[in-house]
Amino acid sequence: MKILNTLSKQKEEFIPLEPGKVSMYVCGPTVYNFIHIGNARPMVFFDTVRRYFLYRGYDVNYVSNFTDVDDKIIKRANEEGTDSAVISERYIEECKKDMVSLNVMEATTHPKATEEIGGMIEMIGTLIDKGFAYRAEDGTVYYRTRKFPYYGKLSHKNLDDLRSGGRSLLVTGEEQKEDPLDFVLWKPKKEGEPSWESPWCEGRPGWHIECSVMSRKYLGEQIDIHGGGEDLIFPHHENEIAQSEAVSGKEFARYWMHNAFLNIENHKMSKSAGNFFTVRDILAKYEGRVLRLFLLSAHYRSPLNFSDELMNAAKSSLERIINCAENLAYRKGIARAAEMTEEERTAVEEAAKYRASFEKAMDDDLNTADALAAVYDLVRYINTHTSEDSSAAFLQALEEELLSLTGILGLDLSSKKEEDSAEDTAKIEAMIAERQAARKAKDFARADAVRDELAAMGIILEDTREGVKWKRA
Ligand code: AMP
Ligand code: ZN
Repeated sequence: MKILNTLSKQKEEFIPLEPGKVSMYVCGPTVYNFIHIGNARPMVFFDTVRRYFLYRGYDVNYVSNFTDVDDKIIKRANEEGTDSAVISERYIEECKKDMVSLNVMEATTHPKATEEIGGMIEMIGTLIDKGFAYRAEDGTVYYRTRKFPYYGKLSHKNLDDLRSGGRSLLVTGEEQKEDPLDFVLWKPKKEGEPSWESPWCEGRPGWHIECSVMSRKYLGEQIDIHGGGEDLIFPHHENEIAQSEAVSGKEFARYWMHNAFLNIENHKMSKSAGNFFTVRDILAKYEGRVLRLFLLSAHYRSPLNFSDELMNAAKSSLERIINCAENLAYRKGIARAAEMTEEERTAVEEAAKYRASFEKAMDDDLNTADALAAVYDLVRYINTHTSEDSSAAFLQALEEELLSLTGILGLDLSSKKEEDSAEDTAKIEAMIAERQAARKAKDFARADAVRDELAAMGIILEDTREGVKWKRA
C-alpha cells in the first residue's frame, strides 16, 4: 500500500511501526459553531482510510481531538454572554451528531484540549529545560525555532524567505520574540478568558501544543499517520513536529497525509470567508450518505468544488448502487435454494476483478475516486448477470461483494432510514404479513385497514412479482 507522504512529497510504501497495527492522529475541529462541509472532508476521508486499514486486517488506534479553547470560542461565548465551556460542549455534541449522519466512526479517543492542560504544561516545561523554549517578560512562552534544525521540513518552505518577510509575522505584542518564526506555547490571561495556573503566568496554551501532547499521550512518542487538511501543513503541523521531536528526539509521525480543500467556486470554503454550508444545511436537502459519496468522489489530494449539480450526480450514483443491492436482496428472497451453476461460479470469479481494481485504487494512495468507479462497474456487472432465475447462492455471493466494497467506503445501503430501529422494522413486517394473511383469507376490509394504518406511519407498500416491498414515503 502506497501513501503520498507530505514530508518526502513521494509515494511511499506503508510500513507500520508495529506489524499489524496503525496509529493515526487527525486534527479535529475548533468547536465554536456547526461544522461546515469543508471540515467534513477530512473527517470522511480519514474515516475511510481507517476503514480500509481495518479491512486489510490492521488494528487501528484512531485519535482525533476537539479544540475547545480558542479565540473564536471565547468570542462566541462573550457574544452570547456565557462561558466558553458551554459553547464548546454544545458544538462538540452537534459535531458528533453530524459524524453519525456521515457514518464517521467514533474515534478510539476524542480528547479535548481543556482536559489536557496538565500535560501541556509539562511538555512546555520540558521544552524550556532543553533550551527549545523561552519565557518572555510578560509570561508568554515561545518556541525557539532556530534551535530545531529541521524546522520547515514538512512544508518545504525556505525559512530565510519567511524570516525576511517576517515583519508581517510580527504583530503587536510579539516584539519580544527572538525570531519572527517563534510561536506561542503559552500566553498570559486576558480579561474574560478561561485560564489556568502555570509556572510562567496564569494563562492558556497556544494552539499547536495540544496535538503534540494528546498524540503522545494516546498513541505514544511515534505514530504511523498524521492527517488533516492542507491548510494545517504550515504552521500547525510544522510546529507539532518541532515540539514533539525536540522532546522525544525521535521522528514524530512516519506519514503525513493532507487533504485538499473543498471549494466553492474555486475558493476554499471557510467560516471566516462566509462562503460555507454547514453539514446541517446540506442534511436538510440530502441524505448524509449522499454527502459522504460526494466527498469521496474526488481523490483526497484534488480540490473538490461543491455544487448542487455534483450533489445530484452523487445522489443518482448512490441510488443506482442501492437499487442494485435491493434487487439482489429481493431476488434472493424468492430464489431457488439450489447450488450455483457452473456458469454462475465462473461469473462470481469474474466479478472478483472489481474487488481487485478497488484494492488497487485504494492501495495507490487511497484513491477513492477510482475505488468508486470499481463499485459502479460491479453494479453494472451484477445488473447484467443476475435474473429471476439466479440461484440464491449466486445472489448471495454478489451481494457480499457489493456490501463489502461499499462498507469500506462507509456507504450504508440499507433502504430503511435511520429512525427505523430493529423493533420498528419487525413491527412493520409483522403488519405486512398480517395484511397478506387477510388478503389470502379474502378479508379485504382488514387488509385495507392494515394498509391504511401503514400509510399513516409513512410506509408505502408496493406489490411486485417478487412479493411486497415497502419503503418510507
Ligand atoms: P478547523 O476547525 O478550521 O481547525 O478545521 C478542522 C479541519 O477541517 C482541519 O483538518 C482543516 O484543515 C479542515 N478544513 C477546513 N476547511 C476546509 C476546506 N474548505 N476543505 C477541506 N478541509 C478543510
Ligand atoms: Zn493538530
